[in-house]
Amino acid sequence: MQTNLAKHFQQDPAAEAIEGILRKCVHCGFCNATCPTYQLRGDELDGPRGRIYQMKQYFEGREATAELQLHLDRCLTCRSCETTCPSGVHYSHLLEIAREKLEVELPRSVWQRIQLWTIVRLFNSGWLFKILVICGQAFAPMLPKKISSSIPAKQVPPEQSTVQHSRRVLMLSGCVQPTITPNTNAMATGLLDKLGITAIEIKDRHCCGAVGLHTSQTEQGKQQVRRLIDLWWPYVESGIEAIVVTASGCGVTVQDYGELLKSESAFAARARKISELACDISELIGRELDHSLPEIESPKRVAFHTPCTLQHGLGLKGRVEPILEKAGYQLCRVDEAHLCCGSAGTYSILQPELSGQLQNNKQKALMVDVPDVIATANIGCQLHIGNGSTVPVVHWIELVYAALAGNNSNQEKVSQ
Ligand code: SF4
Ligand code: SF4
Repeated sequence: MQTNLAKHFQQDPAAEAIEGILRKCVHCGFCNATCPTYQLRGDELDGPRGRIYQMKQYFEGREATAELQLHLDRCLTCRSCETTCPSGVHYSHLLEIAREKLEVELPRSVWQRIQLWTIVRLFNSGWLFKILVICGQAFAPMLPKKISSSIPAKQVPPEQSTVQHSRRVLMLSGCVQPTITPNTNAMATGLLDKLGITAIEIKDRHCCGAVGLHTSQTEQGKQQVRRLIDLWWPYVESGIEAIVVTASGCGVTVQDYGELLKSESAFAARARKISELACDISELIGRELDHSLPEIESPKRVAFHTPCTLQHGLGLKGRVEPILEKAGYQLCRVDEAHLCCGSAGTYSILQPELSGQLQNNKQKALMVDVPDVIATANIGCQLHIGNGSTVPVVHWIELVYAALAGNNSNQEKVSQ
């Protein structure tokens, strides 16, 4: 699309990126076919092509309006449109720039600001979040079913091995995962240990920055990123071979550190290095298990939900399923696997209606083959799909760990 940026945007540091992205879009509309919000609302303004057009008008000088902000807020940033687009339009980057500008031009209402501030602080508070979860789990039996079903059951993670291997990786602990689903990192660490790799986890809760960055509190998000880089850097210098992330939503953010801090001389080189080292746990386990996993039989039938961040963000569609099959699980059919479950970071809190419809659709799509269990690769999706699900929803790493743990002789073979 031809574009003529308004004068005030021509001087903007993001001008080149805005123009480049807008010029690539040929307005074909293929992306609408795979956009969850377009499918639900049937409104061009709530699809990627329409959003791109509205952003184009804004960058060309049209006044910022609450209506524009609403259509952009309804976007899940699932990036399904990017996977579909034949012209390689980097839609999510354009959206990020537009949202940041609109945030300054159109200040949110007091209520919205309180909501956003509370979400970011609560997820990052550590102790306060932990107390709330512990109280919720303790009082769940006394609460109405609608509320109690949204409180995840307490997990008791397995004990960790104390063996130190020469191969070492860092593992992101995350902000809410250590409190709600501690099994994920504990079992990932246990599996890596069996494969002769020590996973080092800085136990303090550390958000990767995604919560701030996705709620337009960019500076707050960047602060967390800088803090994490400072904490990780001594380990990077000591020669760890990778930075492993078990939540694909966080993985996308960590892989973007280099781009995010590229203009900050104190952090740019370190951020780039950390992005290079970052990998999803499926990449590492997949590689290692190619050589090590013996045939295991498990009676369970699994429906795997591929998070948008894994398939569209990290481009790792189809990586987990072969690992589950190798671990003996039978994979079930999943309808419309490219569509978002509606969790999308804080979307389920900020856009409950659309998020609820997507959740409902996803639960049905995952149950078409009546699986025994649903597995996924991101805590947000795990909790969102698990809320009201009739079968357990787990991180896939728990299934692989359970398959190996249930077969002692195989465990020994793997550790050899
Ligand atoms: S973003 Fe891509 S698929 Fe969508 S209208 Fe533009 S060129 Fe077509
Ligand atoms: S990111 Fe997802 S919700 Fe947003 S426009 Fe693209 S496909 Fe639609």
